[in-house]
Amino acid sequence: MSDTAIARLRDKILDGSPISTDDAALLYMSADDLTLSELSTQVRNRLHPANQSTYIVMAIVNYTNICVAKCDYCAFYRLPHQAGGYLLSFDEVCARIDDLVGYGGKLVSFNGGFHPKLKLTDYAELFSKIHHRYNDSLSFFEMTVAEFMFSCKLSKLSYEEGAQLLLAAGTRWVTGGGAEILDDAFRKRHSPGKYSVDDYFKAQRAILDAGMGSTATMVIGFDETLEERLNHLQRLRDFQESTDRRLTSFLCWTYKPWNNELGGGEISNREYLRWLAISRIYLHNFTHVRTSVLTKNEAALDGLNFGANDFDLPTEDEVTQKAGATISLEFAKILDAARRAGHEPILRNPFTPSPRFEV
Ligand code: SF4
Repeated sequence: MSDTAIARLRDKILDGSPISTDDAALLYMSADDLTLSELSTQVRNRLHPANQSTYIVMAIVNYTNICVAKCDYCAFYRLPHQAGGYLLSFDEVCARIDDLVGYGGKLVSFNGGFHPKLKLTDYAELFSKIHHRYNDSLSFFEMTVAEFMFSCKLSKLSYEEGAQLLLAAGTRWVTGGGAEILDDAFRKRHSPGKYSVDDYFKAQRAILDAGMGSTATMVIGFDETLEERLNHLQRLRDFQESTDRRLTSFLCWTYKPWNNELGGGEISNREYLRWLAISRIYLHNFTHVRTSVLTKNEAALDGLNFGANDFDLPTEDEVTQKAGATISLEFAKILDAARRAGHEPILRNPFTPSPRFEV
């Protein structure tokens, strides 16, 4: 990239103006690491205190691995009647939650498969019992958008009806998980049975319009092209603008290539950090950008110098562990990595869903 092109983009970013998708491609292809770190930090520090980061201890409870979607990048699922499939009982789910409480955790994220027999009323009943048992002592991300879509279809409910049903059961969050790369060409190659991108955003909108919270996620490092990654960011940014900025955060993690059909390799830490920086700069309308300890371990904390301001300390997630992720419960060591990166880590409470119509 020429010095003039860098100077033009630097002015635009420091000005607070959104950069275009072409600008993002240019930056990603040509800017050096130091420039990406500096510019993403400038954007980050407009929204958050410099040299400080926040974190939360959380668990991803995988209540079932039975799934009919057959995504080729997934090491977690079992088809119905295949050996090794499971559906946790209420008591087993609670035991997992109690483990998290033992670690001082405050956030439980549920994530399972497209189970062909679980209607939305089954989920609502489970969530309602969980709320009753734990009251307000914990926060719950109760489904991913992808699971919500599947279960609505299975239950013959519109997304609006489904969202109302969950809301009545006390659900406050349905997160943006299951997004991977929001580009239809990517989805056709790897998960043709999952959803179309337009449909994904229809479901997200119904969730937000019902008054629940949601988030944005992305997974990189499959075989996606730069164009497909940029399409993902563009769709997210446009959607965020059209919903009065109600998606609370953006989290990007990395594909783990073991024990699945797709295989391949892992992207480098450097590539992850560079993409995090591009995401922070491009997604000017997102408040929180989160770095992934789940898939990058201590190296994720370098992300605090590439635009991220927040991270999880996960205690379990079978989906990524089956594909090769290693979870460390040595929290003190991980927090020291944040300090070494120059950011004092502050334990936070769970976010609250962004109110409707907040600008
Ligand atoms: S990624 Fe999710 S939807 Fe796809 S096969 Fe795995 S569990 Fe099923």
